[in-house]
Amino acid sequence: MLVWWPVYPEFFRDLFVRSFTTGLADGTLTGRVTEGTWRRALNRLADAANVCGSCGAATFWDQDAPTRACWNCGRAGTPPALLSIGGHHVVLAEGNPVTSHHLLHDRDYRTAVARVETLDGSQGTLLLRNLTPATWSVTPAGEETKTVRPNQRLRIRPMDIDFGGQKGTIGAGGR
Ligand SMILES: [Zn+2]
Repeated sequence: MLVWWPVYPEFFRDLFVRSFTTGLADGTLTGRVTEGTWRRALNRLADAANVCGSCGAATFWDQDAPTRACWNCGRAGTPPALLSIGGHHVVLAEGNPVTSHHLLHDRDYRTAVARVETLDGSQGTLLLRNLTPATWSVTPAGEETKTVRPNQRLRIRPMDIDFGGQKGTIGAGGR
């Protein structure tokens, strides 16, 4: 447990502390950590899953400590690309799915609407694949608006994305 504790983002550790201190004695909704709060926290934790750019270790991106050193190699982390949509911040690291819930708040955490892939299987260029039946409209910073058809991929860089009704932005984490 002592090994894993510092790996978690601050918001998650705060919840544990609250849960096993004031939350134990205070049974009100403001004291006790409810099931719904845990569920949201675990979803947020999944959205923060990241990969160390130096050693490839699995890490979590911490909004409250964006430059925190990697638990494995000790190097300072590079803030990952973040997709912000509907109040969620999803780390765009390889393998991380963007789910239907991120777009529609429909509690469908299984259906992926987009997936982060790499160009050549290495950790170089990250791409986002459109897994929806809709054509996306994207406006990368300093570029013209382009379309991304179903199953097409786009290179991840700062941009505005219209997923066909729901709008999001991609930016660097830690701003
Ligand atoms: Zn590392």
